[in-house]
Amino acid sequence: MAETAQSFKIPESLSLEGRVALVTGGSRGIGRAIALLLAERGADVAVNYTANESAAREVCDAIAGLGRRAIAVRCDVSDADSVEAAVKRVVEQLGSLALLVNNAGISIDSLCARAREEDWQRTIDVNLKGAFLCTKAASRQLLKARRHGRVINVSSVIGEMGNAGQAMYASSKAGLLGLTRSLAREFAPRGVTVNAITPGFIETDMTDAGLHGDARDRLLQQIPLARIGGPDDVAEAAAFLAADAGGYITGHALRVNGGLLI
Ligand code: NAD
Repeated sequence: MAETAQSFKIPESLSLEGRVALVTGGSRGIGRAIALLLAERGADVAVNYTANESAAREVCDAIAGLGRRAIAVRCDVSDADSVEAAVKRVVEQLGSLALLVNNAGISIDSLCARAREEDWQRTIDVNLKGAFLCTKAASRQLLKARRHGRVINVSSVIGEMGNAGQAMYASSKAGLLGLTRSLAREFAPRGVTVNAITPGFIETDMTDAGLHGDARDRLLQQIPLARIGGPDDVAEAAAFLAADAGGYITGHALRVNGGLLI
């Protein structure tokens, strides 16, 4: 990766040179891939994590290897005080924040009849309120960044099409699309864009249990491109939306799903 970054000059329209990014849930899976690609394109990155500090530090070390600055920031995105403190630290240590990727998320699957109210609450708190709180805490910084300001919300194809056994998750991810559209309108006068990405099935810890054997084969039959996505597929979309190249796109939900939903 480092070799590529050094030998290949990133086109101006894709460059994130000089921008500071915060990626929530950035220590693994999709968030990790996004954090690394943003750094490869030139950004300094704050890698948010909740428990696994060593994983977050490993991502920071990889970013440092690309010649960019990185810090690991512990915070639970569903806790307003924790989020405020994290954003403050990012600004103090890396400088003005231009790019927020609301990637942190959980999935608690249950049929509606058996679902527990606390699981509903936790899902909404992390997946939807978390993105709201992070954007709120970073909003002054983002608006100050003007035409470089970006919010990217990682929603899901499940928020668009629904799924049996995933009512809580689908509701939170559909809510994130409403948040995206409203904030796109709210931030547009300052030149700041707000978009969502709706990944399909991506191979990470979150999907690990459901992507084996017959279940995998059945899933592949539903995906026209006939493969499960990887975290890098989502990261490429995020890096594009983050750069000047994506600067006239706002309020959009970009599907990265191999054709699962067209
Ligand atoms: P993952 O479980 O590997 O990553 C989720 C990340 O969120 C982890 O780093 C976790 O620590 C973090 N997180 C969870 N609760 C948090 C909290 N309260 N505060 C801060 N961080 C918290 O899964 P992933 O597949 O990499 O998922 C990343 C995002 O992509 C999630 O929002 C998920 O819903 C979304 N997504 C994933 C898929 C998929 O197929 N993997 C598909 C569509 C959308």
